[in-house]
Amino acid sequence: MNASRREFLTTVSAGVAAGITQGGFFSGAHAAEDRKLGVALVGLGSLSTHQIAPALAKTQHCRLAAIVTGSPEKEKAWGDKYGIGPDHRYSYEAFDKIAGDDSVDIVYIVLPNSMHAEYTIRAAKAGKHVLCEKPMANSSAECNAMIAACQQMNRLLAIGYRCQFEPHHLKCMEIARSQEMGKLSRIDAGFGFTIGDPKQWRLRHQLAGGGALMDVGIYALQACRYLTGEEPVSVIAQETKTDPIKFAEVDESITWSMKFPSGVIATCSTSYNFNGLNRFRAYGEKGWFGMDPAYSYEGNRIETSNGKIELAQVDQFGTELDEFAKCIRENRPSRVSGQEGLKDILAIEAIYRSIQQRSLVSVS
Ligand code: NAD
Repeated sequence: MNASRREFLTTVSAGVAAGITQGGFFSGAHAAEDRKLGVALVGLGSLSTHQIAPALAKTQHCRLAAIVTGSPEKEKAWGDKYGIGPDHRYSYEAFDKIAGDDSVDIVYIVLPNSMHAEYTIRAAKAGKHVLCEKPMANSSAECNAMIAACQQMNRLLAIGYRCQFEPHHLKCMEIARSQEMGKLSRIDAGFGFTIGDPKQWRLRHQLAGGGALMDVGIYALQACRYLTGEEPVSVIAQETKTDPIKFAEVDESITWSMKFPSGVIATCSTSYNFNGLNRFRAYGEKGWFGMDPAYSYEGNRIETSNGKIELAQVDQFGTELDEFAKCIRENRPSRVSGQEGLKDILAIEAIYRSIQQRSLVSVS
């Protein structure tokens, strides 16, 4: 699954140069503080291996300082490759000892969804700032506990919403906010892919919390929220399953519709059984704009009723990490805070409730 999913996300354009946006966060008066912040990666699976570790090497303000893994083989291979000494390598059981590791400022949690809450809370208690992959957790109750733990320890919490730092998405937010295409009335958005290995954790409800919706549908949901700048008030959803054995525990395909306070209606879909759905389009009084592909690691493109908009590509994980480092330095909350993660989970819970109740439901 990881290879096919990765290939799918890594769509794209030959010749796209991935590079971190250059910006002087700590120049001038802050130069003395310009120590790179140490990041401990928890979970050395596909995302950590193929995206985050390479991105970390390109960041301006972060560095890989420690690893947390259950595999002695990975511990040695990563330690050797990235020059991480035995004192900065942790098993899951010994994770709490990271409290005494001054080389670590940020714990980046890249584990199956059900483990996000536990490790966020343990990291906060160890006195570390937390960057946690999406979806934030398996329930809004867990999200609230994560937010409370970080608040109690006065640590920052951010969720791995890489698209919110990506220039094409930022440009679309700007088009929406400036009403360049007039007042928005409708958004169509969707993200799906064909999932492989039937034994993987993404198909186990206890570990994943849900299926396509939790994993990739969340990108379409996020896009609707950040394009409107509003929270959905009600949703109606429908689930379809073509393979009830493979998808016995989690959703295979869901379509849903959300109503926003300004009257915008968003129609969204997500699936674990087909490739090529990776887009959004927003319609205003004067025209439309959208992205296709929209949520890939690179090669995302904007098209509008007035033509294409070409923008630089960036390393989304590197940018996200540097932005979080900037928040820590400047002691201000991240744009993709725990509250932001919670809002998505509340909407996702409403979507599952609507499927269960076969009716329109309010988002709490
Ligand atoms: P993966 O399966 O490749 O890696 C998961 C890691 O967790 C592995 O190292 C595995 O050994 C470890 N692990 C520890 N306990 C485990 C358990 N009980 N069961 C299974 N694995 C266990 O997954 P991934 O694709 O790296 O995804 C990890 C997280 O990152 C997920 O929350 C996922 O939603 C998120 N993710 C985000 C993006 C993004 O673009 N932001 C992309 C992919 C994945």
